[in-house]
Amino acid sequence: MEESGRMSPPPVARAEIVVDLAAIRHNVATLRELVSTAMMAVVKADGYGHGLTQAAGAARAGGAEWLGVATLDEALALRAAGDTGRVLCWLAVPGEDYAAAVAEDVDVTAYSIAELDEIADGVRQAGRPARLQLKIDTGLSRGGATAADWPGLVAAARAGEEAGHWRVSGIWSHFACSDEPDHPANDAQERAFRDALETAEAAGLRPEVRHLANSAAAILRPSSRFDLVRCGLASYGLDPAPGHTPDLGLVPAMTARASLAMVKSIGAGAGVSYGHTWVADRDTTVGLVPAGYGDGVLRHAGNVAEAWVAGKRRPVRGRICMDQFVVDLSGDEAAAGDEVVLFGPGHSGEPTAQDWAEACGTISYEIVTRIGGRFTRRHHDRGDPA
Ligand SMILES: *Cc1c(COP(=O)(O)O)cnc(C)c1O
Repeated sequence: MEESGRMSPPPVARAEIVVDLAAIRHNVATLRELVSTAMMAVVKADGYGHGLTQAAGAARAGGAEWLGVATLDEALALRAAGDTGRVLCWLAVPGEDYAAAVAEDVDVTAYSIAELDEIADGVRQAGRPARLQLKIDTGLSRGGATAADWPGLVAAARAGEEAGHWRVSGIWSHFACSDEPDHPANDAQERAFRDALETAEAAGLRPEVRHLANSAAAILRPSSRFDLVRCGLASYGLDPAPGHTPDLGLVPAMTARASLAMVKSIGAGAGVSYGHTWVADRDTTVGLVPAGYGDGVLRHAGNVAEAWVAGKRRPVRGRICMDQFVVDLSGDEAAAGDEVVLFGPGHSGEPTAQDWAEACGTISYEIVTRIGGRFTRRHHDRGDPA
């Protein structure tokens, strides 16, 4: 994906995602400095759309002692790419190949005794002990052991530790409402987590890392930082709690850009795109952007989002189609081939992923993880041309 060879002309960017690895490195270093605990950069879902291995490399360079992923396959992909540091994964289904994860020294997570049994099988196949973390459900009601099942899970994990199957390296949980810092669930979950740690301690477990905080909590709730924080979104420079997060100087790492496929004039009264949900109220010029919902440009962006063309924000007119959408250039000078920035860091005035999220009634997590399809992706670093 890196640029190579400076002799041939650059390929035409029909539609491309450009990822600034220096931004990821800077964001991780900034967060790590802020929290003064160990840092896990979360690189699941292809590094939130930024590229799993490239995001991981930049996060390591920024000081991340840990990488976090959802699936075992993501963890193994990090190992295949040469990452030898600590990696935690946390979402398996019955029958998955724990032996491979154990052999590759990945920290695996158990939510239940059934999962412990599967991990023990993997340990036997791999012929070496696992690094095991336990997840307690403190109130998200998603993964993890309930408070009722926790003492049993802890006891079984301790027995497995004594039998040499694994070392319990971590105990963790996850917030439901960390982007709403005043939500009472945050206090309740942190209390429940402390109770769960006491139960584990009483059972003889001595985890190396206790962790609860995602990006929003890491930034906004110092009491939740424990030994390690798990930062996904903020590592990519996006705001995990809009309206609450102080300015930390994080830099959005992703830019989604394209070349205008066509520019033309339309007359007052012309309906634009499927369903004619926008009708020109005056003569205008429109630009055709060659990306659509088949590329992860949310259809909800129709008539509400903006893109940057020729030095201004331009409103999306009409519906987003599968392959293309239309922006209003209002008669300004622009031509086929001109650059259109859907979103970027915002430094020049272009919309950000957060702007797209607000326009579409979603969160920036969804904007960056869904963009893809026929967009190509390249990575650059400070000193390289953007
Ligand atoms: C995705 C995820 C994170 C990262 O969350 P952000 O809000 O992006 O920081 C942390 N922990 C778990 C368990 C996750 O699933």
